[in-house]
Amino acid sequence: MSEHPSDQTKLRVIYLAGYGRSGSTLLDIALGMRPDVFGAGELTALARHAWKNGEYCACGVTVHSCPFWGAVMARADGEADEAAASDVDAAHDAQAVLDNLADLQRRVESLAAWRRVLGRFLPDTLNHYHGANRGLFLAVTAEGGRGGGNGTERAVYVLDSSKLPGRALALSSMPGIDLRVIHLVRDPRAVAWSMSRPHRKQIEAGVQRELRPKPAFYVALRWSMVNLVCEWLCRRVGPGRTIRVRYEDFVADPPAVLEAIRTQCAPDLPGLADDGAPPPEVLRPGHQVAGSRHRMQEHLVIREDHMWERQMPDWARRLVSWITGPLLRRYGYMPGARADHEGRPVSASRPPLVEKQGRLVENKGLVETNGIGAGR
Ligand SMILES: [Zn+2]
Repeated sequence: MSEHPSDQTKLRVIYLAGYGRSGSTLLDIALGMRPDVFGAGELTALARHAWKNGEYCACGVTVHSCPFWGAVMARADGEADEAAASDVDAAHDAQAVLDNLADLQRRVESLAAWRRVLGRFLPDTLNHYHGANRGLFLAVTAEGGRGGGNGTERAVYVLDSSKLPGRALALSSMPGIDLRVIHLVRDPRAVAWSMSRPHRKQIEAGVQRELRPKPAFYVALRWSMVNLVCEWLCRRVGPGRTIRVRYEDFVADPPAVLEAIRTQCAPDLPGLADDGAPPPEVLRPGHQVAGSRHRMQEHLVIREDHMWERQMPDWARRLVSWITGPLLRRYGYMPGARADHEGRPVSASRPPLVEKQGRLVENKGLVETNGIGAGR
């Protein structure tokens, strides 16, 4: 996947940053249903493991069999593809390209590595990383902009919901990128509850590996660290390009949050109401390459879910609240706060829901937890 210096196409990328189990896959699918946004899922996973392990795309087949990702890899490594004598050769060439990218990603994207990158200790590695990623983003942009096979091409934002703030920090210095960042947060108690439950490996159902339960104190510490780095990322990317979104607000009022993301992050996109179509109530995944298991459902219905409030042990809730205290308050997750059925705050002193660059913007309501209804 070589860089094409002659191709000065401006890459428009919306990056979804945050900690795990925060609903990034659902937000990726919802935003990706816009014709001018291509929801790519957790793009970092394509090189790291999705292609190598033959994992499933959200369209229901493996990435090797998916026409979208097959076309992306053929385009991303055009020279090798031309030389390939068969599909097997082409897949082999794509693997070589992705192995190189995965190696660079491992060195650049971890939270431990970004210190070195920012310290300019790895300029060559970062240059190679930018070149390899530019090739992939160009290919996703081109294929994602092909208007449903009708021969037209349109400009799209590529939505990368890899979550890792270290990846966004590395991408932010990539020449020619127009990067927007959504910092997605979710109540850490809901996250800790979700991560306390195991999921067995079920590749065809979108669970790529066995997910072992994680202790509450570990989740609380990681949640705090990742969100602090996300805040720093947003300050680096700069005003007018970032937004912090609480997942609970998205679940309570998806159209309002999608519109807030558009106006604060990508105002060049037309408003949701401008295309004349009502906001979709049922979400349909596209070609999200990796993410939560929910992407493997044919359709998703967003609904509130308060299970963690009923089932999470008190001691675990108190431990998570204590460790995450400062951020818990900053993000408006105050203990005892509840919402009525219309999603309107019970307390007038409740912090507003969508925050833009430290300036609070009013929104409609608050729910404490969230959930997803799904079916195939
Ligand atoms: Zn697909």
